[in-house]
Amino acid sequence: MYKKQTAVIMVFALAVTSLLFFFSPFQEHKEASAEETSRTGIVSGVESSLNVRSGANASSEIRGGLPNGSTIEIEDIVGNWALIYFNDTYGYVSMNYVDLNKPSAGSSGRTGEYQGTVTGVNTSLNVRSGANASSEIRGSLPNGTTVEVESTVGNWALIYFNDTYGYVSLSYLSVVEGSSPSPVAGSPLTGETIAIDPGHGGSDPGAVGNGLQEKDVVLDIGRRVEQKLNAAGSNVVMTRSNDVYVGLERRAQIANSANADSFVSIHANAFNGAASGSETFYYSGSRDGAELAGLIQEEMVKALGTADRGSRDGNFSVIRNTSMPAVLAETAFIDEPSDAAKLRSSAFREAAASAIVRGLERYYN
Ligand SMILES: [Zn+2]
Repeated sequence: MYKKQTAVIMVFALAVTSLLFFFSPFQEHKEASAEETSRTGIVSGVESSLNVRSGANASSEIRGGLPNGSTIEIEDIVGNWALIYFNDTYGYVSMNYVDLNKPSAGSSGRTGEYQGTVTGVNTSLNVRSGANASSEIRGSLPNGTTVEVESTVGNWALIYFNDTYGYVSLSYLSVVEGSSPSPVAGSPLTGETIAIDPGHGGSDPGAVGNGLQEKDVVLDIGRRVEQKLNAAGSNVVMTRSNDVYVGLERRAQIANSANADSFVSIHANAFNGAASGSETFYYSGSRDGAELAGLIQEEMVKALGTADRGSRDGNFSVIRNTSMPAVLAETAFIDEPSDAAKLRSSAFREAAASAIVRGLERYYN
């Protein structure tokens, strides 16, 4: 959401509210593609039960508890917190009480996203319990050790290590050539430099509603877009990859100085709790921006089953100050219950990411 809302939205809100009933609810489903590897863990070492919280910190609201021995399926790891699917919603549990199971191999026989080789350390590379330099050291790896990188958190790689997991600094890992997903041959996205801008972050939560914060939702969608574009052989520039505050002008600068070929800012909207749907903005007068916005909007509405609020021009800093075709996509309304339920689901976030990528693909085709 951007604070500068136009009066037009108010008119749309009324129209869209009455249209709402014609759109069937998004069918939430959990399915893993053949390429995906699943990460599971077992709750252990808690006195009574492990708190499931609404955010990745010990002060977030408690949504429930899990006894020792519970098996959890881990959707993502944020710092030292695991995002899990729980009671038809999502929650975070502390990794301090989770024994990570050995990751299962995907169809390629590999478990990780890519392989890295320890390079350039003086003696050995510390494996730590969390994604920061002050976490407990669980072990160390000499130069030349090859590890499977299960996921990355900021500048840290999560690896499976000695029957548990640990984090190592990405500064000392070099990617083993050919171990990352190979680009889809002939994709129009191959070789394009694309800037992805997950809105808000850090001290700026963006819009909040229904237990969700815009900054978390759009970062998740943004990372999914990043992964898909990487797989298609694009050169992805992220304005932020974790929960940090980045100023609006800085975001445009990042894209401009990387000479990005296009720019996609990802947001979730909020208005009066009744407005819903997707909309995509471009900067007034940008013909290419308008084309890209139209394609992304079309793909979002098709894939997400959200109300179509259209694509139109908007005077937002990130699309005004970028020097390449730029759009700002408002995926859905975080303060409207049915849109929020969609935004909460990983299936929806995945579908939103795919829609954005398909829009880009059509633009470059
Ligand atoms: Zn926003």
